[in-house]
Amino acid sequence: MAFAHLKKDLGVRKEQGLFRKRSTLGSPQDVNAVLDNERYLSFCANDYLGLANHPEIVEAFQAASRKWGVGAGASHLVSGHHLEHELLEDALAKWLGRSRVLLFSTGYMANLGTVTALLRRSDTVLQDRLNHASLLDAGLLSGARFQRYLHNDLESLKAKLAKAPEGGEKLIVTDGVFSMDGDVAPVRALAKAAREHDAWLMVDDAHGFGVLGQNGEGLVNSEGLDENDVQILVGTLGKAFGTAGAFVAGSDELIDYLSQFARSYIYTTAMPPAIASATNVALRLIQEEAWRRQHLSELITHFRTEALGMNLQLLPSETPIQPVIVGDSELAIAWNEHLKSLGLWVTAIRPPTVPAGSARLRVTFSANHSIGDVDRLLQGLCSCLQRWPVEAG
Ligand code: PMP
Repeated sequence: MAFAHLKKDLGVRKEQGLFRKRSTLGSPQDVNAVLDNERYLSFCANDYLGLANHPEIVEAFQAASRKWGVGAGASHLVSGHHLEHELLEDALAKWLGRSRVLLFSTGYMANLGTVTALLRRSDTVLQDRLNHASLLDAGLLSGARFQRYLHNDLESLKAKLAKAPEGGEKLIVTDGVFSMDGDVAPVRALAKAAREHDAWLMVDDAHGFGVLGQNGEGLVNSEGLDENDVQILVGTLGKAFGTAGAFVAGSDELIDYLSQFARSYIYTTAMPPAIASATNVALRLIQEEAWRRQHLSELITHFRTEALGMNLQLLPSETPIQPVIVGDSELAIAWNEHLKSLGLWVTAIRPPTVPAGSARLRVTFSANHSIGDVDRLLQGLCSCLQRWPVEAG
């Protein structure tokens, strides 16, 4: 029978308890959410600053769609590149102190298009082993020599850099804030290693923009690194910005090159102009409403202090991504179900998204949470711990 592996592979997924089910959101994406027709206090969105429903951003989106319509109607290089895209690219470039910015329709496409455009077979791409799937996929698809180094481990990276064949280019690729662990890449040390080995450094700071830095400028700028240190800077707009899409920032030459050779830029419909307009307002709010970052940091400190006191297993993260390690996949599901019964929604993340034996509840905080909300979550986690203790790992 043709394609018999579909049934077999699905069966294995289910037997292993790793079949991913999706839930249906029946409310705006916010801390109080209706999922599968039930009300929950949610700790699982990437809307870190609580901007996804900000009235000014919603208003900008509505006004722009009344003015410009909904769909871009074509790709950027045909006739879909709109004045609103131009304004957003310029505003992002100015904010980040980069020569230019290129918008992509999603972060996945930004990473896929950038890495595959730049690399040839004779080149080497070196990636942190915990990088986001879109970066890993991009590296594999590029056909370049693909190397993974140990997570945030400079020695492991340097050993691989030293072995890269002469004559090929070298590209080091890392998440800024790691999406499943919440820790940050040692970008200064990575930039130094890149310089020493005549490599380029690409940082995908999808989870750092809006959250890290005095004005939400992200990990790379808050560490004082510029275009000479990090030649390729990627950000996504569906997280702290509260909208959708992504951007790549870099030199004139890089942006010209991507606009000519990044297939996921060229062969896809541009993001709706109203999204670009709404994102421009989000960019202003990210800079103006510093209280959102201040409040988030209070929530994170409170959570970590109390959770560590309860002997929950946390990771060394100071960002709004605060995974609670459970280990076993079925245990992670049991905790998730129990929390649901208490009106709390926290996603269980299991292999293959995270390494085997490190299943977890991926807690994420939003500036719209209150300290009382965090206390409710802590009570729920305490109750899980009493029912199903986690062995120290
Ligand atoms: N990079 C990282 C680090 C991510 O976490 C994600 C999405 N979670 C992406 C890229 C993809 O972004 P998008 O959702 O816009 O495709």
